[in-house]
Amino acid sequence: MLEKLINKYPIIEKMTKEEEIVWVNPNCDNKISTNITLSEIEDVSERLNRFAPYIKKVFKETSKSGGIIESPLKEISQMKAYMEEIAGESLKGRLMLKCDNNLPISGSIKARGGIYEVLWFAEKVAMENGMLKKEDDYACLENDKFKELFSKYSIVVGSTGNLGLSIGVMGAKLGFRVVVHMSIDASQWKKDLLRERGAEVVEHTGNYSEAVAVGRKQAQEDENSHFVDDENSRVLFLGYAVTGLRMKEQLDSQGIVVDKNHPLFVYLPCGVGSAPGGVAYGLKHMYGENVHCFFAEPVKAPCVFLGVLTGLHDEISVHDIGLDGKTIADGLAVSRASGLVGSLMGNLIDGFFTVEDSKMEHLVGKLYSKESIFVEPSAASGFPGYSALQLNKEYIKKFSNEAMENSTHIAWATGGGMVPQDVREKYI
Ligand SMILES: *Cc1c(COP(=O)(O)O)cnc(C)c1O
Repeated sequence: MLEKLINKYPIIEKMTKEEEIVWVNPNCDNKISTNITLSEIEDVSERLNRFAPYIKKVFKETSKSGGIIESPLKEISQMKAYMEEIAGESLKGRLMLKCDNNLPISGSIKARGGIYEVLWFAEKVAMENGMLKKEDDYACLENDKFKELFSKYSIVVGSTGNLGLSIGVMGAKLGFRVVVHMSIDASQWKKDLLRERGAEVVEHTGNYSEAVAVGRKQAQEDENSHFVDDENSRVLFLGYAVTGLRMKEQLDSQGIVVDKNHPLFVYLPCGVGSAPGGVAYGLKHMYGENVHCFFAEPVKAPCVFLGVLTGLHDEISVHDIGLDGKTIADGLAVSRASGLVGSLMGNLIDGFFTVEDSKMEHLVGKLYSKESIFVEPSAASGFPGYSALQLNKEYIKKFSNEAMENSTHIAWATGGGMVPQDVREKYI
C-alpha cells in the first residue's frame, strides 16, 4: 500500500523520512461548504454571551473581559528579527502572536472548543429539565440546585492533555462528573492537575486514538453521559469557529486591514485538526480568499496533512506510512485526523508544513528569551511557517510586492498557560 501511495503522492516519501516539508494545497478553492453557516456560528457566539455572567462570576480572571474567554493579539518584532536571522533574509510583513497560551481558565486553545462544548451540554441539560430559559441570567447556574442536577450526568473525553484540562476544569466547576481518558505518555503534571481539580483520570497503555475509542464506548453505554468526541464533534468545531468572528473585531480594533492588498497569513498548530480547522473556517467566513491558513504538524505525526493530501482523511493513519506518531508536542501527538475536518473544509486549508521536535523546543526557548512569552512546544510549531512560505518563491509569486509588504502574519500560540514552573524551566 505504501509503495502505491508514494507513486501517487511522491511527497509521502519525504514524510516517511521525517523530513520537514512545506506543501501548498492545490485543491484550496476557498469555497465554503453550506454545511455550517455563518448564522450557526453567530448562534454559538450568542450562547457564549449568555454564559458570560456565570463565567465572570466563577472564574475571576475573566472579570475584565466580562466573562468572555479571549486572548490578546500581540506584535512580536524581536521574534520577527530572530526569524529573519535564521532565514538569512529579511521577511516581509508584521509578525504577530495570538496568545491562546494566555486564554483564561485553561491556558490553551482548548478553552475555546472544549469549554464551549461543556457549556452547550450544560444548557441543554438544564433546559430539558425545565430549569433554564435563554432569557435568564445564567449567573444562576452557580446555585446548588444546578450542581445537584449536573452531578447526575457525566462528561467523558479522550485527551492528550489540554482538552482534558479544559473539559475537566469547566465540567467540574458546573458540578458534572468528568472522566478523562488519557494515553500513558500524556504529561504527568496534566494528570495530576486534573485529579486535583476533581476529574477522574483513566490511563491507557495504547495511543491516543485507543484512549478516545474506549472513552466513546463507555459513554455510549450510559445515557446520562456525554462524550466529547475530539475526532468528530461538530459542537467542538463550532466553538473554535467563533474565533474567526472575534478575530475580525480584534484586527479592526488594532487598525489592521485585511484585503487583497493586505493579506493575512495564519500559522496554526494542528493535532486532529479540530482547533485549527474551526479557527480557519471562521476566518474564511470573514475574509475569504484574503486569509491564508497554513497548518503546522510535527514531522512524526502529520496526520491531517496525510489525510487531506490523499483525500482519505480519517481513513489513513501515520502508522500506515511507518511513522509512530510520537512527538514531544503533546497537543499534536495524534496519528489519525478528525473525520469531520478534512471532509468539511479540506478545500479551505491553504497548505501544511511539518516541523521537527528539536526545532519546536528551540523556538520555545527563543520566544521566551526574545519576548518573555512562554508557550509549550506544540504552540511554537507555527513560527517556521512565517519564513518557510516567504522562502518559497514559487508560492509567494502570486502576491504583489506591495501586498507582501502590507501583510500580517499570525503565529497561533495554542498553549502553555497551565504548564507548571519546573516544567517550563526545563523547556527554556
Ligand atoms: C489541541 C492542541 C492543538 C491542536 O488542536 P487539534 O484540534 O487537535 O488539531 C494545538 N496545540 C495545542 C497546545 C493543543 O493543545
